[in-house]
Amino acid sequence: MAKLLEGKIVADRIKEDIRSQVQLLKNKPVLASIIVGVNPGAEAYVRSQTKTAETLGIVYQLHKLPQDTQEGALIDFIKKLNDESSVNGIIIQMPLPAQIDYKKISQYIAPEKDIEGMHPANIGKIVFGKANMLPCTAAAVMELLKETGVDLYGKEVVIVGHSEIVGKPLALLLLEKFATVTVCHIGTSKAGKLEEHVKQAEVLIVAVGKAGLIKGEWIKDGAVVIDVGINRIDGKIVGDVEFEGAEKHASQITPVPGGVGPLTVTMLMRNLVEAAKAR
Ligand code: NDP
Repeated sequence: MAKLLEGKIVADRIKEDIRSQVQLLKNKPVLASIIVGVNPGAEAYVRSQTKTAETLGIVYQLHKLPQDTQEGALIDFIKKLNDESSVNGIIIQMPLPAQIDYKKISQYIAPEKDIEGMHPANIGKIVFGKANMLPCTAAAVMELLKETGVDLYGKEVVIVGHSEIVGKPLALLLLEKFATVTVCHIGTSKAGKLEEHVKQAEVLIVAVGKAGLIKGEWIKDGAVVIDVGINRIDGKIVGDVEFEGAEKHASQITPVPGGVGPLTVTMLMRNLVEAAKAR
């Protein structure tokens, strides 16, 4: 039976470190969070972020803008926060109303305040191995991989999902560790080759958002499995990997919930403290 890779244990350790770094700062770090319109999903994230910030001694400023806010007005608001010296980090809650293009407006966040690590300048630094603001989910996966104790050098690592927030940055971060990286996506599935790639994986990372996409019997014996996926099925949260089948073959595996999730918000706070320290 596989060992469980529990995000909370790693997150608690990192939070301890964040707390002590916050105490060394002259001013409490300030996180400005923008929510546009009414959105229960985003509000749930805000509640969890507020709670985490409180326990770490971080000031969480919530800015609520009306549902009909236009891109221009949101950009002006972001610029105001960029100029506000007391604000160390800025995040925009998703999803946004249809009239706002996240990719467009997120570029207006000053790179040094982009604690989600999504500004092209921060993404670009990953290519050069010089990133100081990593996208939070990718950073969470890297922390879990560190926790496994597995040396990634030369390992067959398979990533399923090539999104800008998870799969693509992870591929670059794993190349930095000299892993042999294969990135699978919808094209791989449509070509009927997903199973064949997954079966080769010594380390498997899945970030798709489709429950049960990865069958338990595809997991190579002894593999490390990181399941980023979050799917709500019959009121229960499950990942993208069939957990019961997979844990029979894997050496280490993340539970869902309780794996990557608890670490993601911690990575956001770590980026914030790094931004505050850099000022
Ligand atoms: P996206 O929808 O942006 O990306 C999903 C990726 O999966 C795309 O690259 C897509 O390819 C690919 N894909 C879709 N269908 C298949 C398929 N059948 N076979 C192979 N690849 C496929 O999602 P995110 O990256 O934002 O999130 C992925 C999952 O991770 C979601 O469940 C999300 O909720 C979860 N998540 C969890 C977090 C956490 O903290 N635990 C944080 C962030 C996300 P293409 O674009 O070509 O269709």
